[in-house]
Amino acid sequence: MAEIERHDYDVVVIGAGGAGLRAVIEARQRGLRVAVVCKSLFGKAHTVMAEGGCAAAMGNANSKDSWQVHFQDTMRGGKFLNNWRMAELHAREAPDRVWELETYGALFDRTPDGRISQRNFGGHTYPRLAHVGDRTGLELIRTMQQKIVSLQQEDFAETGDHEARIRVFAECTVTELLHTDGAIAGAFGYWRESGRFVLFSAPAVVLATGGIGKSYKVTSNSWEYTGDGHALALRAGAALINMEFIQFHPTGMVWPPSVKGILVTEGVRGDGGVLKNSDGKRFMFDYIPAVFKGQYAETEDEADRWLADNDSARRTPDLLPRDEVARAINAEVKGGRGTEHGGVYLDIASRMPAEEIVRRLPSMHHQFLELADVDITREQMEVGPTCHYVMGGIEVDPDTGSSSVPGLFAAGECSGGMHGSNRLGGNSLSDLLVFGRRAGLGAATYVESLTRRPPVDPAAVDAAAAMALAPFDPPADGSPVENPYTLHLELQQVMHDLVGIIRTDAEIRSALDALERIRNRIESVAVEGHRQFNPGWHLAVDLRNMVLVSECVAKAALLRTESRGGHTRDDHPDMDPTWRNTLLVCSLVGGPDTGGRVVPDVTVAPEPQVPMRPDLFALFDFGEVAKYYTDAELAGHPGKAE
Ligand code: FAD
Repeated sequence: MAEIERHDYDVVVIGAGGAGLRAVIEARQRGLRVAVVCKSLFGKAHTVMAEGGCAAAMGNANSKDSWQVHFQDTMRGGKFLNNWRMAELHAREAPDRVWELETYGALFDRTPDGRISQRNFGGHTYPRLAHVGDRTGLELIRTMQQKIVSLQQEDFAETGDHEARIRVFAECTVTELLHTDGAIAGAFGYWRESGRFVLFSAPAVVLATGGIGKSYKVTSNSWEYTGDGHALALRAGAALINMEFIQFHPTGMVWPPSVKGILVTEGVRGDGGVLKNSDGKRFMFDYIPAVFKGQYAETEDEADRWLADNDSARRTPDLLPRDEVARAINAEVKGGRGTEHGGVYLDIASRMPAEEIVRRLPSMHHQFLELADVDITREQMEVGPTCHYVMGGIEVDPDTGSSSVPGLFAAGECSGGMHGSNRLGGNSLSDLLVFGRRAGLGAATYVESLTRRPPVDPAAVDAAAAMALAPFDPPADGSPVENPYTLHLELQQVMHDLVGIIRTDAEIRSALDALERIRNRIESVAVEGHRQFNPGWHLAVDLRNMVLVSECVAKAALLRTESRGGHTRDDHPDMDPTWRNTLLVCSLVGGPDTGGRVVPDVTVAPEPQVPMRPDLFALFDFGEVAKYYTDAELAGHPGKAE
């Protein structure tokens, strides 16, 4: 068997985005030894790409804001399918996490009187997104890296070794979790540059691997978002929930090709940008759904007044939750009122002076000018839905981030529940901080409680190495060799065409047939060359995760016969209250033993939601929850008696 580099840690955090780094800080502050492993360079994660800001009810821009209003907005945005306890913790703790970042050295934009500035975003009642221009994620990561360096300096002063308690393993991909007698014992991976194997022995692993966007053809996600954490957790015996809910961000660039799929932050609309169809009409006024009637402006004049003073008018429907805006754009294009490249127009140029646009949206301006020769201070952008975020993920305990597998924790985009069927913009950065901290704490508490650490099983290490090396062996049964790039393109096309923004029973069934064929063909994937610098091999390793996760998305999408948030069924266009309190749970058929198949079988089963705590339920008007809940559930609402 190949030579393996070995390390021992208390906690291994997989992923160095916002959730991973916040977990590292917390576990280290509890005195534990922590490894942080990331597939890309340290500092390069989706979190860096987050533009608009971090939602937290600090009340700086409007003193009426509170954690209760943030909680209500989040539940509304998720169409009441969210894990309410997560939404509660998130709304209560986000302000402290943002202020804490300041103590680490974050430099947010300020209000004229010196407080952290907050901007408008879709679905948020008040201006709530703490931001740094349109580079908020970059500042968040920079700050947490700085905090990690300062902790390493403390460790150096105490032990003479900067890496005594935190070590970064960058450009290192984890391919398997190791478990012994059902509990986590470590993780197995390889250095991307050399291909050499690495084994981490550790009783606790925190998954913070981000999203799954690379399973789709048009996406705002970058190369490393292949659903690894989702697949690692499944294969280790944990469950995934809500996988049918995929967020298609309404404003990805559709033209020119050099920027196709790249995100135009919602901050453009938050700061006054408007959507228009090819007739020049601001069409969003035609798409205010019944559940939001009365909450949004009905005329352009009112919407524009709201931008100047959000107490004197109702908010613009350009800032409806993302699922609503994405569907509206889709309908305009289908109705023949789109641009010639299949999008609609997003206009900020005519709405404010050029220098103001550059001041508020510097990255947007710079990026599109450099990459596509589009000057957003002078011309409209052509935008349309792009696969952006997965609401589904690893089922975790809200308070500790623990999964059903002892020693396995998850936080951030790879975990599920917090955002229900649709995430509000800005609620991810705050989610990372709140639940990254909680998962780090949960992992530390778990490790401290152990009297014995599960040993790594050498047979499991051999199996992980064999699985990773399999793409170097041509198929033993003589079947034709499959190219990982071809198979990846086919997978993306299937997911885009058949399990995309609008779905039907027949389409999902044909996607499942295609996925089954891909699942069989993946057994014959083979790559040339050897382990050093071999992108074809990297893709072959990632592909099995993408196929596994895509199966979960398609199987759950088939079962959910309603439309809600990031799951729209053309054949079941309405929300169905009996589905609201049902989660779809994906797990491996027969448990964690994959039986040697590259992509094991998944099964999806319904699970009832835990009913919302009465004091939280009472925060909503009866008339509002009546649109989402069954009569039996409404009996518990105080407004029922009125
Ligand atoms: P990520 O930041 O995605 O980090 C994942 C980490 O896991 C990376 O370090 C990666 O290398 C590593 N990894 C993955 N697989 C492996 C593996 N097998 N082995 C080792 N390491 C692995 N949200 C907001 O709230 N506000 C915004 O304004 C906003 N803007 C956005 C703009 C864009 C363009 C995008 C793409 C997203 C935006 N989001 C925004 C969403 C938000 O940025 C992400 O949901 C969030 O950053 C995810 O953070 P994370 O910590 O869960 O994972």
